[in-house]
Amino acid sequence: MPTQKPRLPPSVWLIFIGLAVVTMLGVFGNRGGADAGSTAIPYSQFQQLLDAGKVKQVTVSGNMIRGTLKEKLPDGNTSFSTLQVPADLAGTLAKHGVEYSAAPSNDALGTLLSWVVPPLLFVGIWLWASRAMMGGGGRGGLGGLGGGLFSVGRSRAKLITAETGIQTTFDDVAGVDEAKAELHEIVDFLKRPEEFGRLGAHIPRGILLVGPPGTGKTLLARAIAGEAGVPFFSTNGAEFVEMFVGVGAARVRDLFEQARGSAPCIIFIDELDALGRARGASPITGQDEKEQTLNQLLAEMDGFDRSVAIVVLAATNRPEILDPALLRAGRFDRQVLVDRPDKKGRVDILKIHLKRMKLADDVKIEDVAALTPGFTGADLANLANEAAVVATRRGGDSVSMDDFTRAIERIVAGLEKKSRVLIPNERRIVAYHEMGHALVALAIPGSDPVQKVSIIPRGIGALGYTMQRPVDDRFLMSRQELENRMTVLLGGRAAEMILGDDISTGAADDLAKATDIARGIVMRFGMDEHLGPVAWDTEQANFLHDQPGAFWQQRRYSDETAHEIDQAVRAHVEAARARAVSILQANREALDEGATALLAHETLGADDLPKVKQMAA
Ligand code: ADP
Ligand code: MG
Ligand code: ZN
Repeated sequence: MPTQKPRLPPSVWLIFIGLAVVTMLGVFGNRGGADAGSTAIPYSQFQQLLDAGKVKQVTVSGNMIRGTLKEKLPDGNTSFSTLQVPADLAGTLAKHGVEYSAAPSNDALGTLLSWVVPPLLFVGIWLWASRAMMGGGGRGGLGGLGGGLFSVGRSRAKLITAETGIQTTFDDVAGVDEAKAELHEIVDFLKRPEEFGRLGAHIPRGILLVGPPGTGKTLLARAIAGEAGVPFFSTNGAEFVEMFVGVGAARVRDLFEQARGSAPCIIFIDELDALGRARGASPITGQDEKEQTLNQLLAEMDGFDRSVAIVVLAATNRPEILDPALLRAGRFDRQVLVDRPDKKGRVDILKIHLKRMKLADDVKIEDVAALTPGFTGADLANLANEAAVVATRRGGDSVSMDDFTRAIERIVAGLEKKSRVLIPNERRIVAYHEMGHALVALAIPGSDPVQKVSIIPRGIGALGYTMQRPVDDRFLMSRQELENRMTVLLGGRAAEMILGDDISTGAADDLAKATDIARGIVMRFGMDEHLGPVAWDTEQANFLHDQPGAFWQQRRYSDETAHEIDQAVRAHVEAARARAVSILQANREALDEGATALLAHETLGADDLPKVKQMAA
């Protein structure tokens, strides 16, 4: 979005000057004390008329006297006004036959000004500040003035239609096939609502694109705008964040109002976290304002009925801070993961960004992709550009592989600081670790099937991941299942041990989870033979916050029991590790084979995993 210097539009200045002039006129116009339809007369004349008995009635306010005469003045008026001259002075003046009259004192003018100027100043400052906060730009709601004064509560979403068109299409996005497929479906839905409605399916209401920065979420949204062929309201969560209570909410209302007017359409809210932050999570900014805005959004999403074809699309790279209410059914209940691309994805993305570049013959896109694990789409776009810069600087007439290598080195140095790119030995360890989880899960009958294994760093912190899809929702778990789960969690560390070099910090998260399960077995579920069916754990989950009990809660068992609990927990974790190690030892070849495949392809689906021997407990 182009950022404009906050500046008052000329019309606002005009209004200012106008107000000032009107004020002045008011002040000075009153000088003679005349009103329309009445004649201002000198005070001496008034006294003469009074003496002559020609005055019918007077009204005195301050030193202003208004009244009517029994006969007409020379100009045809019967009403008059005059300003009183102090009586003793008037007497003296009358004695000498002087014509006398009074004028409003300068004091009065000063008083008036002091009443008028400060409010004007305040209005000015307020106008300026609200302009500055809105950062200029946007649609001026009501002509020029609208920008500041009356359109604060208007949504500043950009409307993109077929005519104002966006050139981005799905062909400009690569490497995120699942997300693309999902969004294709939405586009189809919007294009032919009758066809989908035929079987009673209704259009999803909210879709949330989730993924690390630079993976193409905004790009995907633009592609939808380009392809859907329906109006597309594009806005940013930050545009709803304001200092004044109610402004953000008013904008949300306005946005949905507009959208309803042009359904079927898409509303896109980029960086949803700016507005959808969990209530009560940010102590600094205006609490009320944030909550009102969020509540308004929730209300609007609940409000429009299913027959109105409005799809709300949003993007965030911090789903964890979103208010849970946003993710509930009927709101953003469809979440589309836009993840870092694997090797094949990177090849496709590079093809897009290298399309317009002159490449030397020695450049193989596959090789560039192989050198850039962990890169996002934005990193790759940056890489293409950087390589061209390097080539230009050395005066070459095409971009060579050497330029790419140099550009990669430069970018990697930056990314390594953010720990998103692994050195080769780390990749090997991560590959064994993840394959360890996967094979243990495969080898234990009845555990959740492995869906995907990857050594592409995901989110923040995790270096790779193994995705298991639960077969169905579980409310109860048997002890055997808990132990199976622990064993899978320890599969990573077990694989590292089998690989033999050393063990790594990569298992920290797994160990924490496994230990939690072990504590549950021993302390909460009473499943440990030795400690018996006693609930040692006195924690009471808070039903709203689901947080562990308060820290001041007392331990209700003896020191000996504490000791036994610690030993039992350790024994359970140790048992799981021993089991994982023996499973992997029995499947050593599969482990090597799988890790090698993982290093080569970075991501493996369920069908690509090596066969393992099943191991009953
Ligand atoms: P996000 O919104 O996820 O942070 P963007 O959509 O803003 O990321 O991506 C920034 C730029 O990086 C895009 O304009 C595009 O040039 C490039 N890019 C990112 N992801 C992809 C992708 N999957 N395919 C092609 N280009 C991409
Ligand atoms: Mg973005
Ligand atoms: Zn792990």
